[in-house]
Amino acid sequence: MQIYFDTYISFIIKENKLKLSPRLVCKSKKHIDQLDFLVKSLIHIYLFILNILSVLIFFKPLSNLDLSKIPKLKKLLFLFTFFINKIDQIFFVIVSMHHYGEEEITDLNIGDLTLSDKECHFKFIVLGSGPSGAVTALELEKKYPGEVLLIERGLHNSIPNTKHPGEEFIKKWYRGGINSTYSLDMIAYSSGACFGGGSEINSGLYHEPDEEFLQKWGDEYGTKNLSKESLEPFVKKVEALTTKQTSEKTLFSSKFEEGARHSSNEYSYLPRFLNENGHRNSMSETLLKDYIQRNGKVKLEHEIHKIYYKDKKWFLKSKDRKTLYSCESLFICCGSVFTNNLLLKSRIINKNKKYLKRFKFHPMIKVIASYDEELQEINDDIAADQNIEFYPKFIIGNASSSLQFLISSFQKNIFIKEFIFENWKKMKVFHTTFSLGVGRIYNLPLFKDPILTYYLSKSDKKKLYEGFLQTMSFIKSTNATTLIPVKDNLSYNPKENKSDLVINSIKDIKGFQLSSVHILGGVTMGENINCIANSYGKVFDTNGLYVNDSSLINTPLLKNPQGTVMAIAYRNINNFIASHEIY
Ligand SMILES: Cc1cc2nc3c(=O)[nH]c(=O)nc-3n(C[C@H](O)[C@H](O)[C@H](O)COP(=O)(O)OP(=O)(O)OC[C@H]3O[C@@H](n4cnc5c(N)ncnc54)[C@H](O)[C@@H]3O)c2cc1C
Repeated sequence: MQIYFDTYISFIIKENKLKLSPRLVCKSKKHIDQLDFLVKSLIHIYLFILNILSVLIFFKPLSNLDLSKIPKLKKLLFLFTFFINKIDQIFFVIVSMHHYGEEEITDLNIGDLTLSDKECHFKFIVLGSGPSGAVTALELEKKYPGEVLLIERGLHNSIPNTKHPGEEFIKKWYRGGINSTYSLDMIAYSSGACFGGGSEINSGLYHEPDEEFLQKWGDEYGTKNLSKESLEPFVKKVEALTTKQTSEKTLFSSKFEEGARHSSNEYSYLPRFLNENGHRNSMSETLLKDYIQRNGKVKLEHEIHKIYYKDKKWFLKSKDRKTLYSCESLFICCGSVFTNNLLLKSRIINKNKKYLKRFKFHPMIKVIASYDEELQEINDDIAADQNIEFYPKFIIGNASSSLQFLISSFQKNIFIKEFIFENWKKMKVFHTTFSLGVGRIYNLPLFKDPILTYYLSKSDKKKLYEGFLQTMSFIKSTNATTLIPVKDNLSYNPKENKSDLVINSIKDIKGFQLSSVHILGGVTMGENINCIANSYGKVFDTNGLYVNDSSLINTPLLKNPQGTVMAIAYRNINNFIASHEIY
């Protein structure tokens, strides 16, 4: 079967006029291997059928077939064009990621532990090493040296110099960065699966915790001590990891600011999780480095599938089912949907389970804008500008805009693809981010990962559409000459038609390729009857079980969440340490 993959990857490379090389085929194959089980199964079935057709019609297996004959086989499957186009798009996205983002990423050694059976018991275990897990593990290690184990399902790898090279998706992103909800409202989503979690792959844009948001959270869930003032000392700790860029603004940033100031003064140039040299202040470079220097113990490549409580201890079963870890106090920091999934699978929560099955995305629509001047190089970083004129309805910012990300949505659209190839240096992607809709987690017995669906109501879709129109006006005020909404079935030739015609012809949000990089909610935190955990993340009706990550955020946030996730994690773990709540 694997050999069909080589053939089909080579076919996609040739069809898209990229340079065929064994490296590109090998990396792409590795990447496809990481995809979701259901998507991979669909690809296997498709290639299996193509192979049968190849034998029947050309008397050769697919692996020996001349690549130019594959389109003929595909034509025979015309009834399945929708699925085949989706599969082709996945192959194309992956091949492009590795073709244009060639930087290699090295595996780093952090002295990962080899634990004997005796050593598998710890006083504290922190599960998940993203921003929330890094804060929790470091604070515990400072107070209780040598008594903490940090477990992470991913590996530790170097931080690339370029924005999102192909190998980063294989080594650091959950399922290669290609995931989608299984519902009519299909939303592509991503998260980190490596030492440092989301902080290793994100843009590190920082928003301080929003006062109104904290107030609403406290009111909605009866959460104690959640004022901005009480959070202040923890916010300071988070802000020590951020820097406001002072270097001269790029041409694109200047255009963005000019456009935003044109209609209102509600514009921000955000600080980022960067050091003074402009290098990423991810968790593995900061808090986790400190944790390791203090001899904090780490177990990488261990995915925990189940937890249970017995004899006053929490037990954690890892994927290989051989290792059993135990502790007195367990802190779950796996990030929203993964924390929820683990609690659901382990059948720990009986009350308020319906909240545990819910989560929130920040759905984004994207629009490509083209300018008269060149304003990007291949694999450039994003700009830290945000238009907050329409907050709390939506925020407009810049998304990854390198060639591979521009073309990924337009594989089958020859006119747009050609236009992008000719003009990509003059192009940038805008995202408009909303806090709308609600997600649901399905926890199926044979599936280790959660299956996600997402629902956007009619009124949500109307808000998305209105936001789209306002975004178009804003982008025009940045002096963009051509606008291309990232949307399926866009019958549009940017060389011949004015984009206004296309924009005016779009009457709703149907076909827009929605995506989200922020996943939040599931574990309601407060004192009222809807809560799963108390005001500091301790799970009700359990001894020594805590949740301390992005799943605690159940109130609409919209702003970039890492700063808030970390400040709350500091608050909760400091409360734990201060009150010695050890069972
Ligand atoms: C592409 C991208 C861009 C983003 N940009 C920004 C931005 O600019 N600014 C911002 O504020 N936020 C941004 N975010 C969001 C931000 O990264 C997250 O809000 C933040 O990382 C959440 O932290 P967390 O600790 O709750 O979860 P995570 O960072 O997801 O960490 C959870 C960790 O737990 C591990 N894990 C999960 N399940 C298990 C298990 N069963 N066993 C063992 N380990 C497990 C995972 O591998 C992961 O490392 C971005 C996210 C992405 C994906």
